[in-house]
Amino acid sequence: MNDEYEVVIGLETHAELSTESKIYCSCKNKFGIEVNTEVCPICMALPGTLPTLNERVVDYAIKMGHALNCKINRVCKQDRKNYFYPDLPKAYQISQSDIPLCENGYVDILVNGESKRIGITRIHIEEDAGKLLHATSFEGSSLVDLNRCGVPLIEIVSEPDMRSSAEAKAYLETLKSILSYLDICDCKMQEGSIRCDVNVSVHKKGTPFGTRTEMKNVNSFSAAVRGIEYEQKRQIAALEAGETVVQETRRWDDAQGISVSMRTKEDAHDYRYFPEPDLLTISVDEKRVEELKAQIPELPTQKILRYVQKLGLPQQDATIIAENVDLANFFDECTQKGGASPKIAANWLLGDISKYLNETGKTLGETKLTPEKMTELIGYIEKNTISTASGKKIFEIIVAEDKPIKQLIDDMGLAQVSDTSELEALADKVLAENEPSVTSYKNGKTNALGYLVGQCMKASKGKANPGMMKEIILKKLGE
Ligand SMILES: [Zn+2]
Repeated sequence: MNDEYEVVIGLETHAELSTESKIYCSCKNKFGIEVNTEVCPICMALPGTLPTLNERVVDYAIKMGHALNCKINRVCKQDRKNYFYPDLPKAYQISQSDIPLCENGYVDILVNGESKRIGITRIHIEEDAGKLLHATSFEGSSLVDLNRCGVPLIEIVSEPDMRSSAEAKAYLETLKSILSYLDICDCKMQEGSIRCDVNVSVHKKGTPFGTRTEMKNVNSFSAAVRGIEYEQKRQIAALEAGETVVQETRRWDDAQGISVSMRTKEDAHDYRYFPEPDLLTISVDEKRVEELKAQIPELPTQKILRYVQKLGLPQQDATIIAENVDLANFFDECTQKGGASPKIAANWLLGDISKYLNETGKTLGETKLTPEKMTELIGYIEKNTISTASGKKIFEIIVAEDKPIKQLIDDMGLAQVSDTSELEALADKVLAENEPSVTSYKNGKTNALGYLVGQCMKASKGKANPGMMKEIILKKLGE
C-alpha cells in the first residue's frame, strides 16, 4: 500500500440468532432442511397474516448489546425497509431504522498484542430473506427456498474505526467469539450464520475521509481481508490516476479475487423506511435488561488478559484458547477446580487435544474427555507416577473411551519406577555394559550422559523415572 494513504474500514455484520423458532412466526429456525418445509402463511407473506415478535430475539440482541457495551433502548420500534427482490415475498424487510434496540457501544480488540477500541454504532434486529436457487434442472430460471425467510438476525454496525485489514479480521474474530460465548449464534460461517458488508475508503493522511464503497457478498473472514486489500489498492490507483472514487455498492467475487460494481449506492431514503404498523412498540422493562446483563459471562478479551497477566500464558496461546469458548471453559475447569498448572493444561489443549480435534473433526464435547479426567492425568504425570510418553498413550484411549485412568495405568503396566534401589541396580548394569561411553564421558564428552540415561530408559521399557535416573547416573559417573 502507498504510504501516503490511509484506509478507513467500517463493518456491518449480520449474525443469525440460534433461536428455536423464527422471528415473527412459529416455524422452526433450522438450516439444511428440505426446501420450503419450514414455511407458513406469515413467513411466506400471504395477504392478511400478522407477525408476532419472538421475545427471545429481543433477549439475545440485548445480551449482545451488553457484551458490546451499548446503551439499550428499552423502548424502540420496528420499521419496514422496502425493496423488491424475488427472495423477499413481502417486498419489504422488517428491520429497525431510526431507533435500534442497542447503540453507542464499543468493543476492544487485540492486534499484534495491542488493544484497540472499536466503536459500535448500533445493533438492531431484523428478519432474513429467502434464498434463490439457480437450479440446473430448470434451465434459464431460478427457484426460491423460503425456509430462511424470517430467520432472526442482528445487524452489528461498527464505527469506521479500523485502519487495516488485520484490524478488520481481529474485529470479526472478536465478534464471532463473543457470539459463541453468549450462545446466541451457532457461528457456522460455511452456513452463512455470520456475514458481513465491508465499507472501505482511502484518503491521504491528514486530509478528510474519502468516498466509501460498500462491498457485499463477503462470506468469510479471509474473504473480508482479501476484499479490503483489493478495494484499497483499487481506490488508491483511481485517485493516483486523477479519477474520483464513486460511492457505490460492489460485489466481492472471491473466486476471481476482484470486486465489481453492482449499483451506485442507494441512500436510506431509497428504502422508504416507515414504522411497521403490524407490530407493537418494543418495550423492555429495566429488570429484564439487568437480568440479561447478569447472564453475560467473562468475555474473550477479558479472558486473554487474565490468562496472560495472572496465569502467565504467552499471548498467542491465551488468544487461541480464549477465542474458542469450548477450549476456554475446559481450560478454566482444569486450572480452577482441578488445580492443574495453567502452562501444562494449555500445552495439552494446544497440543494433543487440538491435534485430535483437527484430525477427527470433533468438538471437545463430542469426545469422552472431561476436565476432571484431564486434570487427573496431568496429576499422574506431575507426580511422576507415569512418564509424559505414557500420559500420551493414556490420553489416546481416554479421549475416545470412557475408561478409568488408574486402571489403565495398572493394566498397561505404565507406572514409573521411582524406587531408588531398583534404579541404582539398573544403572550399575547399564554402566557395566557401556564401558566405552563411560570412558568418553570421563574424557569430557558430556553428551555420553544422554546416551547412558537413554539406555537405562530402554532397559526399563520406558518405566524408569527419567529425572531420578539421570541423577543416579550422574552420581555414579562422578564416583
Ligand atoms: Zn413461518
